Amino acid sequence: MQRRFALMISPVAADDERDDFDDTFTTVDASAPALSVGELSTQRGDGVFESIGVVDGHAQEAEAHVHRLAHSAMLCDLPGPNAAQWRRAIEVAAAQCAPGEAVIKLILSRGVEHGPTPTAWATAAPAGDFAAARRDGVRVVTLDRGYDSGASERAPWLLLGAKTLSYAVNMAALREAHRRGADDAIFVSSDGIVLEAPTASLILRRGDTFTTPAPTGGILHGTTQLSVFEYLAAEGFRTAYETIPVAGLATADAAWLVSSLRLAAPIRAIDGAALPVDGGITASLNRYLLSPRN
Ligand code: PLP
Repeated sequence: MQRRFALMISPVAADDERDDFDDTFTTVDASAPALSVGELSTQRGDGVFESIGVVDGHAQEAEAHVHRLAHSAMLCDLPGPNAAQWRRAIEVAAAQCAPGEAVIKLILSRGVEHGPTPTAWATAAPAGDFAAARRDGVRVVTLDRGYDSGASERAPWLLLGAKTLSYAVNMAALREAHRRGADDAIFVSSDGIVLEAPTASLILRRGDTFTTPAPTGGILHGTTQLSVFEYLAAEGFRTAYETIPVAGLATADAAWLVSSLRLAAPIRAIDGAALPVDGGITASLNRYLLSPRN
């Protein structure tokens, strides 16, 4: 796909049972202005989103992404998305993707200030080139997220488990990682518990056991991590959600950042100390992640 594709969506109620949604979609010119200046997503980052990997026209884990969109909307008190409508929007967008890797974004915003409904849209575009990260790995630094591990429960208005449009903090963390000579960051709670990367989940390997931070501490439950755990379990490995202290990072046998677009990037250094790269598992994870997944 050379060009971008954009679809404005008139959201219908979550319990609307119609089976044809095409009259709720309007294709717009993706390079032309499409949003009102009163739009709260642009003014306040007040909305939720999903980024879905597309491989050869197949949208990966579409159901898991629609499910997480609904979960994020619930945490933000946004009207629940109609799952069938968003599934259909993904199909329409995926049909615009050329062979190779692409990305579909789903956006559900609170809408225009004082307006009657949320604003919703979907886009499709070519994916970035992640070959080097998948092959050579990434150097990460740990960064304090500034909240303790009880913050999300004590203060749900921080929206720590929602995929909101307010990613300025995540992007600032990436810039800080670059300033420290690394490629990416791993957030750590102020009480020393490992969380996630600004745009990816973390998976560690110890022997034949793969672990990831439990998504109870105000982190996103990654669709890629879920998919990888299914694959690893089918291959006979043990998988587990754990509370991982920051000291547990350096002693892992191997580790990966996983996300919908980058897929599995092995971590080759943490805070300047080298970590072994498991080339065999990395290659098999990325082969699996590039195969059609539902
Ligand atoms: N954690 C954060 C903060 C993210 O932004 C993302 C993806 O963008 C992930 C984890 C990984 O989620 P997924 O595997 O669904 O892409």
